[in-house]
Amino acid sequence: MTDKVLSKKDWVDTLKTIRNSYRIFVPVREGDFHNFRPLEDETIPNFDFSNTRLSPKSIVYPQSERIFECLNDPESPEKGILKEAEKDYPPQAVIGIRPCDAQAFQIVKKNFDNPEYRDPWWVQRFESAILVGLGCNAPCPTCFCCSVGGGPFKEDFLDVLLYDLGDRYFAKGLTEKGRVFISKTKGGAPADEKALKEAKTLSAAAQDKVTAKIPSGRLGEKAVPALFNAPFWEEVAFSCINCGTCTFLCPTCWCFDIQDEIYGKQVDRIRNWDTCMSPLFTLEGSGHNPREKKFQRVRQRFMHKLKYYVDRFKNGVQCSGCGRCVRYCPVNIDIRRVAGLMNEYKNE
Ligand code: SF4
Ligand code: SF4
Repeated sequence: MTDKVLSKKDWVDTLKTIRNSYRIFVPVREGDFHNFRPLEDETIPNFDFSNTRLSPKSIVYPQSERIFECLNDPESPEKGILKEAEKDYPPQAVIGIRPCDAQAFQIVKKNFDNPEYRDPWWVQRFESAILVGLGCNAPCPTCFCCSVGGGPFKEDFLDVLLYDLGDRYFAKGLTEKGRVFISKTKGGAPADEKALKEAKTLSAAAQDKVTAKIPSGRLGEKAVPALFNAPFWEEVAFSCINCGTCTFLCPTCWCFDIQDEIYGKQVDRIRNWDTCMSPLFTLEGSGHNPREKKFQRVRQRFMHKLKYYVDRFKNGVQCSGCGRCVRYCPVNIDIRRVAGLMNEYKNE
């Protein structure tokens, strides 16, 4: 039996019983929002959510990560010799990830795992992860996954897809890893015709509900200097407060900074998420800052996602349409509008 129908009543207990095989992450309600947290004895998972406020990218790419260490002890012959910090990569399962967030990992993979550069920490953590998706029965008005190659029940980027059928889940195995995951769940019944039919109806109805779009079809034709010097950047950036919310919440933003932290005789080299929206991101040691002005930083964010990525990877835009940056920007800057300006801009 591969595909299964599992009762919701037993779902959390089922997940708890497979904690000996995987480190499990589940959505948890925190105030008005949800976030992914490890499933501990006392954790109360809550799958009644549209999407988590923070994307699950930190499960693969921690917000702060010790990558190297060395000694700062003048007596030690090893002073200043960097060593890779010890890490482990246990199998981990992200339960309830939305298809857009799963697609985001594939977008980020282009950067961290390509023929020129392979980030060992990102790759090992990604490869140890099983993505158990939960289709979106009720996409938000700000979601636009269907216009960037995704969809509320898109299977392509997942290992398992769960269909919420009311009092039960239909679990569909999509990869070998996913089928092994399902085989470890206790109980349940083989998927029957009724479940398959209900799943199909849900999927078609949800697809129809995603009406928002991002205009992007002509971005590849534009010349970089023309878009870079387009007249609309000051206006786009006018209300931005450079809070960085858009980039920290975004599942497809990958920029980081590296800092050395000294604790007595110990030095830790830490990789931290960083954001192009912060003036410090590009501040050089000389004091010069090539992106000193706000509009330059806002332009960078959109040029990276909607032009540089498009040209470099020929894989669409650097966005999976999750809508977080639209929902949570305190001043309502909307990537769909900016994409429209860029897409329609006449070079001459
Ligand atoms: S969330 Fe909005 S205000 Fe904050 S940095 Fe992003 S675009 Fe600017
Ligand atoms: S740019 Fe905005 S809509 Fe696109 S993936 Fe990032 S947060 Fe989601």
